[in-house]
Amino acid sequence: MRMHHFSLATAIVLAGNIACAQEQVLNIYSARHYPSDEALYSGFTKATGIKINRVDADDAGIVSRLKAEGAASPADVILLVDAARLWRGEAEGLFQPVKSKVLDDAIPAQLRGKPAADGTSAWYGFSTRARIVVYDKIKVKKEDVDTYEELGDPKNKGKLCIRSGSHPYNLSLFGAVLEHLGEPKTEAWLKGMVDNMARTPKGGDTDQIKAVASGECGIAVTNSYYLARLMRSPKAEDQAVVERVGVVFPNQGTWGTHVNIAGGAVARHAKNQANAVKFLEYLASPQAQEHFANGNNEWPAAKGVKLSNPALQAMGGGSFKSETIPISVVGMNSVKVQQMLDRVGFR
Ligand code: FE
Repeated sequence: MRMHHFSLATAIVLAGNIACAQEQVLNIYSARHYPSDEALYSGFTKATGIKINRVDADDAGIVSRLKAEGAASPADVILLVDAARLWRGEAEGLFQPVKSKVLDDAIPAQLRGKPAADGTSAWYGFSTRARIVVYDKIKVKKEDVDTYEELGDPKNKGKLCIRSGSHPYNLSLFGAVLEHLGEPKTEAWLKGMVDNMARTPKGGDTDQIKAVASGECGIAVTNSYYLARLMRSPKAEDQAVVERVGVVFPNQGTWGTHVNIAGGAVARHAKNQANAVKFLEYLASPQAQEHFANGNNEWPAAKGVKLSNPALQAMGGGSFKSETIPISVVGMNSVKVQQMLDRVGFR
């Protein structure tokens, strides 16, 4: 038996695991913050007999933990919820490249880490989420907010609500815009959004939607699944919010709506490498892909998965035009975007 060196915290987490070394295990570090995912993990264990030990933390917490643990890290699979974070994890050498026919067949090329010469990718997207615009149907006209560019137009002064600019969801959106518009126009656009803000950025995406419904903001930016969650909520107050707001998938007439991913990778120092690949392949399976759509209101990354989610169907069932630039480019641009945000005072 091989001896591993674990930190004290890790030893406690994995104590059960060491006690029965014969058992097949998989250690996952996950930044997915969605309670409905329990079914995803239990589905894998049921199908394979492989027991999952999971550490939940946010993206930044996982990355710093992996760095601190180094080669002694027990992590086999890393799940992160944003392209810019996945790109950074790869850039910092935290993942190992994977070659899998199952993944190659299921996951579109633009939703993976940049392929190496040998055809491997360092990470894979398993679900997608659109970054959409919601607006106050009473005060704002749809045609004034149906492109991202218009969010920075002076005609929308005092109306915009958006979470912190350096949140990964925004860094990725802005990184995509940078790819489409180039540096000078993107920086001017970011400055325009700062000038248009109804308030200093605070809260998460759901808070922005609710602030539109309450009349504090005229326009907000959100990931699609937060709106879908409200649409499917049985609470009267959530239904009232949905009633009040209009929804736009921006840039349908040009380069398409920005789509981000949640994805996964095999950890650089994985001890259960084969199980880790098996888990990523499981995430690409129809069963797991349906879970992303119906459990967390995301769109499946794999091709040809059927949607039965009424909220996703109400939003067009995924038939909107989405941008086609490789998501790995978006991640790479996030460094430049952060510098622009600092210059224009986008908090
Ligand atoms: Fe989220």
